[in-house]
Amino acid sequence: MKVLLANPRGFCAGVEMAVEVVDKVLELRGPPIFVFHEIVHNRHVVEDFQRRGVTFINNISEAPPNSIVIYSAHGISPAIRLQSKQRNLTEIDATCPLVTKVHLEVLRFAKQGYTIFFIGHANHDEALGTVGEAPHNIIVIESPEAVPHLSVPDETKVAYVTQTTLSVSEAQRTIEALKARFPHIKAPPKEDICYATTNRQKAVAVLSPEVDLVLVIGSKNSSNSQRLVDTAREAGKRAHLIDDTRELDPKWLQNTNGILVTAGASAPEHLVNQLLDRLKTEFHAEIETRTLVDEGVSFALPQSLKTLSVVS
Ligand code: SF4
Repeated sequence: MKVLLANPRGFCAGVEMAVEVVDKVLELRGPPIFVFHEIVHNRHVVEDFQRRGVTFINNISEAPPNSIVIYSAHGISPAIRLQSKQRNLTEIDATCPLVTKVHLEVLRFAKQGYTIFFIGHANHDEALGTVGEAPHNIIVIESPEAVPHLSVPDETKVAYVTQTTLSVSEAQRTIEALKARFPHIKAPPKEDICYATTNRQKAVAVLSPEVDLVLVIGSKNSSNSQRLVDTAREAGKRAHLIDDTRELDPKWLQNTNGILVTAGASAPEHLVNQLLDRLKTEFHAEIETRTLVDEGVSFALPQSLKTLSVVS
């Protein structure tokens, strides 16, 4: 059986940075450490940190006064920062810089009096953080079907931004619908769907025609992992999202000659290796890596972490 291994896959620069932040805080201070929301949307990453004494919280009031709180890669709203200050928490911000970029676009458009359409998933952590920057100026749109029902105070003063982890093709459909309805709409200065999301989807789109089945390593609540499954299905292929090799159902491999293996931006590489080992030993797979883009992206650790290092 032929197995194509997509490259790029797995951890992006934002996830690398966020995971390193929690590692470093554990090293410097040890538990108890509180992380607001899952640091990244991956079950294995979260459970590993829980075993090492990290507590994940969904409400700032769960962190005792004067403790350390880390903000996840998905970002937070100003209201959360305020709550942390009121509890005198030490804040370490692991928000991905590409999410922060979208926050800044929202702030700029809001300051100029625009109504902003946020294209994304309303309940995702990233959406909650971004919308929280200007809640009275933002309307969340989940699909192109929502566009005909939009109502705004001034149709000539509208702009859009997007979540960073959307399906590129689905987001494009929504943007086209917005442009048709609001010809004066302002776009963000630079694409909001991030390089990692785009590259991983592109690899699946390009390589899927060569296989019968696509396996994506990632957690069910990971937006960019889910979008890789969508991309494969759009290409007419069977596709499954699995947290790890234990979820591989041998029935999927019946009458299958070629498989594409990839991983969402929050899925650790050792989980990919475990899946490949199983495919080799149980199904005699021959692995071939296909590289479409050499990313070479990395992000600096946040200043708040450097400050913590100095005072420790
Ligand atoms: Fe940042 Fe993109 Fe990774 Fe999200 S998927 S953490 S936006 S690089």
